[in-house]
Amino acid sequence: MPTPPVSYRGRFAPSPTGPLHLGSLIAALASFLDARHYAGAWLVRMEDLDPPREEAGAAERILTSLQRHGLCWDEPVLYQSTRYAAYAQALKTLQQAGLLFTCRCTRAQIGAEGTCCGACRHTPGAPVAGRAGDRPGALRLAVPPDARVAFTDALQGTQHSALGQQLADFVVKRKDGLYAYQLAVVVDDFHQGISHVVRGADLLDSTPRQIALQQALGYPTPAYCHIPLITTRSGQKFSKQNNAPALDDSRAAHNLRLALDFLGQTPPPTELTAVDDILRFATAGWAPGRIPGVLSIPAAQLGVTA
Ligand code: GLU
Repeated sequence: MPTPPVSYRGRFAPSPTGPLHLGSLIAALASFLDARHYAGAWLVRMEDLDPPREEAGAAERILTSLQRHGLCWDEPVLYQSTRYAAYAQALKTLQQAGLLFTCRCTRAQIGAEGTCCGACRHTPGAPVAGRAGDRPGALRLAVPPDARVAFTDALQGTQHSALGQQLADFVVKRKDGLYAYQLAVVVDDFHQGISHVVRGADLLDSTPRQIALQQALGYPTPAYCHIPLITTRSGQKFSKQNNAPALDDSRAAHNLRLALDFLGQTPPPTELTAVDDILRFATAGWAPGRIPGVLSIPAAQLGVTA
């Protein structure tokens, strides 16, 4: 593992689509312990960017759950719903650099990976504004076909992406007017001075897009560590959609022990029953090299059912 810099700043960035479940606790705990072990700051950012997918009260429930598990953040929570002006400014920068175009593909024209039909980029006329009567469009970043991104993930190793071929011209502002996750996460990781991103491996294939955006906006690239996902019996990510149970906050110490086991860490001695004591033990002994370097682990291996 590379030695983290003195100015370590990590974060946990939940989307308030439902209560915290074991999968999100594992991601929160890994980023918390990594930050604390290296004497860094740990921030929470609420990614409330997609109201149709959100659940009323979920943001507050998530924050309460984090606190009940002893995961306390160091700075005020940043809500992405307050950050539209910053996202608009970033889009303006990209537009001025000639890197944006409007995609007016219909649902049927959009490729399996969410790709544009390929013609929109070459449509003559205003590249972004459009003309009266045009159907609404999404804004996409123009990625050259030969664009490649490489980075070294602290756990998953060196990653190479033929971005221009695989996930080219991705959306930065959706057709429905909402800012895309890829844009917001990059703008906010930069705004919050995040040096280390520790998160679930479901986001590993988002990272090349985020690095491309960082480069286009002139931002530094943080260090990345993608931890394995906990999956259901049928191999799906834990989520509200597949009925991952909400964490029982009254069993916080037990939940932390499960998460530490998942992360391959030394089990805290049984006499430690308070969450703060468990976290202190886990912080001191944090060994990221012991996290299994795989993309997913079934919950059944922990004796958890889902
Ligand atoms: N909000 C994203 C999620 O809940 C995580 C974003 C990130 O960590 O970059 O899946």
